[in-house]
Amino acid sequence: MQKTALPVKKALKPRRCKSCGNSFQPISSMSKACSVPCALDLVRQANARKEARAKREERAATRVAKEKLKTRREWIAEAQVVVNKVARLRDILAGHGCISCDIKLNPRFGGAFDAGHFRSVGSAPHLRFFLPNLALQCKKCNRDRGGMHSDFRKGLINRSGLERVEQIEAMQGTAKWSVEYLQRLKKAMSQA
Ligand SMILES: [Zn+2]
Ligand SMILES: [Zn+2]
Repeated sequence: MQKTALPVKKALKPRRCKSCGNSFQPISSMSKACSVPCALDLVRQANARKEARAKREERAATRVAKEKLKTRREWIAEAQVVVNKVARLRDILAGHGCISCDIKLNPRFGGAFDAGHFRSVGSAPHLRFFLPNLALQCKKCNRDRGGMHSDFRKGLINRSGLERVEQIEAMQGTAKWSVEYLQRLKKAMSQA
């Protein structure tokens, strides 16, 4: 007589509770915890992991946003370097000295000159790249003497005329450059 193979329900093997580590008899293949308190503990652990992951992701997003910001600031700084250089060269080639004290460039101390802003970058950021607002200025005047504003103004009037200076003084605007604009500006000014 042939044996009929009865479908034998396999008893699940005992397993370790994922919360307390004790061995227990699972009621289904999905069972992970030995008891309700241990099951609740596993839910709490899972929620904590989820929260930690969300926080990590949020921190990463903040970091990316900061880096974007930093990149734009860096582009502004790099564009400013080339714009300043163009302003200095323009005035040196024209034979000008410092806009505010008129001291002349000594070729042996070539590095002693800055490009000064007539309207400062702090108070008129929209004019930071505007060449008519920039002039060759000795480091002493630009840095130690606070920009020598009234002498700067006199010097600029001598060069460009009162009307032009008043125009610059009246200029309003915003200073919101895109990274693309700053890259183009830097490239164009590097070729000037
Ligand atoms: Zn347990
Ligand atoms: Zn000077």
